[in-house]
Amino acid sequence: MIQPCIRCGECAPACPADLDPQRLLAALRRDEPSAAQALGLQDCTGCAACDARCPSGIPLAARFTAARDALRQERQRQAFAEISRQRFEARDARLRRREEELAAERERQRAANASAQAVAAALARARAKRPPDAKDPA
Ligand code: SF4
Ligand code: SF4
Repeated sequence: MIQPCIRCGECAPACPADLDPQRLLAALRRDEPSAAQALGLQDCTGCAACDARCPSGIPLAARFTAARDALRQERQRQAFAEISRQRFEARDARLRRREEELAAERERQRAANASAQAVAAALARARAKRPPDAKDPA
């Protein structure tokens, strides 16, 4: 039967990774994974040497392994979310650039059409002013 931690300190000397399982456990129980990380959670090998020394029968290794896995998954999730965000932003920037290029092309086209219409209108006005028997210049 699992008993509460009595803070006997028996677990720490047993740890080959030089961790303090008692403090690791306390951090996880406070739901402070970053504190557990600062205490070296990622260095826990899950060897269970601490379990063997614990008079309270606390499954320390299983607890640490589960917490380590959860942290790894969270990091992977964050990395994936970051990659997705970067991809989304890159695509968005690409679409915006394309839209700006199309708008610039439409504007160029509009200016060219306006210029052609202005020339045609000027020619028409010049023709209208000429005497009826004058010929168009070759
Ligand atoms: S399970 Fe982790 S904390 Fe416990 S003795 Fe092994 S390395 Fe240390
Ligand atoms: S050996 Fe068990 S009871 Fe003792 S301090 Fe470590 S976790 Fe707590």
